[in-house]
Amino acid sequence: MCGIVGYIGKKTNVDQVLIDGLKTLEYRGYDSAGIAILEDEVKIIKEVGKVANLEAIVKKENFHEASKGIAHTRWATHGHVDKVNAHPFKVGEVTLVHNGIIENFETLKKDLMSSGYEFKSSTDTEVVAALIDSLIKKHNDISKAICEAEDILIGSYALLIMVDRDIDSLYVVRKDSPLIIGVADDKNVVASDINVILKYTNKYILLDNYENAKLTKDKWTIFDKNGKEMNKKVLTIDMKSEDISKGVYEDYMLKEIEEEPIVLQDNIDVYLKDEETLLKNIPDLTKFKKIFIVACGSAMHAGLVGKHFLEEYADTEVVVEVASEFRYKKNFFSKNDLVILISQSGETADTIAALRLAKAQGVKTMAIVNAINSTIARDSDYVLYTYAKTEIAVATTKAYLLQVVTLLAIALNKGLTSKKLERSFVLEKLKEIKEIPAKINSLLSRMDEYNKVAEEIKDEEDIFFIGRKVDYSLAMEGSLKLKEISYIHSDTYQAGELKHGTISLIENGTKVFAIITDSSIASKTLSNMEEVKARGGKIILITTSELDDEYDFNYEKIVLPKTSEMLSVILAVIPLQLIAYRTAKMRGCNVDQPRNLAKSVTVE
Ligand code: GLU
Repeated sequence: MCGIVGYIGKKTNVDQVLIDGLKTLEYRGYDSAGIAILEDEVKIIKEVGKVANLEAIVKKENFHEASKGIAHTRWATHGHVDKVNAHPFKVGEVTLVHNGIIENFETLKKDLMSSGYEFKSSTDTEVVAALIDSLIKKHNDISKAICEAEDILIGSYALLIMVDRDIDSLYVVRKDSPLIIGVADDKNVVASDINVILKYTNKYILLDNYENAKLTKDKWTIFDKNGKEMNKKVLTIDMKSEDISKGVYEDYMLKEIEEEPIVLQDNIDVYLKDEETLLKNIPDLTKFKKIFIVACGSAMHAGLVGKHFLEEYADTEVVVEVASEFRYKKNFFSKNDLVILISQSGETADTIAALRLAKAQGVKTMAIVNAINSTIARDSDYVLYTYAKTEIAVATTKAYLLQVVTLLAIALNKGLTSKKLERSFVLEKLKEIKEIPAKINSLLSRMDEYNKVAEEIKDEEDIFFIGRKVDYSLAMEGSLKLKEISYIHSDTYQAGELKHGTISLIENGTKVFAIITDSSIASKTLSNMEEVKARGGKIILITTSELDDEYDFNYEKIVLPKTSEMLSVILAVIPLQLIAYRTAKMRGCNVDQPRNLAKSVTVE
């Protein structure tokens, strides 16, 4: 999590460069923000909360043009959210910002304290600053000090370091946290996200773990973990700085939901346009007998929907695992297995660890990611991009939708190539999917219905979501979305499971969302809904038009536009997202930056 930005180059308004960069990165963490700029000496300004708070103070400071500075927006892991714990930290002659977690910071802190260092904050980061300062003193050599620090530090880190004795350089170190060095003739700009860099250059360098860089205003040098200078490829990205402003929208989340038909079309054009794209742009997975899908949060929920697609339509066994568990448990792989990693950012620390584990076991890996050239994309054997464009709102909407659709494409491809599906069935689905963007548009225009539901649930403290099979997976995502942004607690149950315990919590007026897109289990879920109703529960049903015709219920109901069963799953996502959104808005929540969360979870 967190975002870091650094600038070294020709003299400019570095304060503005850094603040602009932080604004682009703010979705990654917003507990506090800070900048350090080298004028005659290093000047540090920090503030709790949003970048706007910091910006207001920075404006009053009247910074001169400068040639070097670093900045940070924090997602606290160690130490409260306050000004003292905000980055940057200056210890001795070292000023730095850090993204990540240092696992051995307590031992290091004790050692450093016994050699005279005093600490003001409770962060792990201040310890890193002290460590590097002590090593510079020991070696009288900055590069040597940095390499030794890399040996000593356990955990994850992307560090931007300014050292008093070397005013012309900015040092950059990386292990398991994202960092991109943008290079241009008269400046180098470093950041956690390519969007910051694209404003200045489309040429960039990616450091691998334990590599570090020394940047000056017009030069860069990369060192390996032993401090030996090494060659590094400069990459070019064929991407314009995307317009990531909110435009006419009140918040990013709504903008991103409304973009869903457009980005879905982009995804369809790549994978699902016709038989040719389906076979050409998805690798042949026929040989894989079993698939593990590993992901976190909403991406894991997309994986559960993918499991349904692959099992039902491609006859392939799928195990879905939460990445933070998968990385530490015993896994049973065989050589015909494939591990699919799903991550919007491609930098999710737990998912990266799962990827490394699978690779170490010699299992083939496939990434479904949104961020081009991210770590998971680079390091997997196959990569399928989702093409959702930049997603800023912390709670994912369009990226989740496209993860689901990409998994659908994989299932159709595998079903076709392994002859588990009739070609005519696949062609029919490819035809039908062309109509889905328009159907999503029609769902987007039904805000009155979502407002009505939101109005009903906005004052609740506890809500239930139920569904069976794939509808349970959808229910999980609907519940998560609501919790993330509205702070209303909800629990999700397989509809048949409620009566095995939790039905005791249903009382007069308890709100229960039920989802039914799968006709094979519709009558079963309907019975479970009756059980809820009999105990005074109030059902909000999201279902398909076929089921609507078949059963006429007197419940609150959102009926999805007509399409085939396989594709109704995609449509059902939209009302769930919009109900969560409207409920959060009615409760006055900050939907784009919910409390305690950050977009790109780059720590364990
Ligand atoms: N562990 C550091 C802290 O708590 C850095 C967190 C971050 O990546 O924002 O300050």
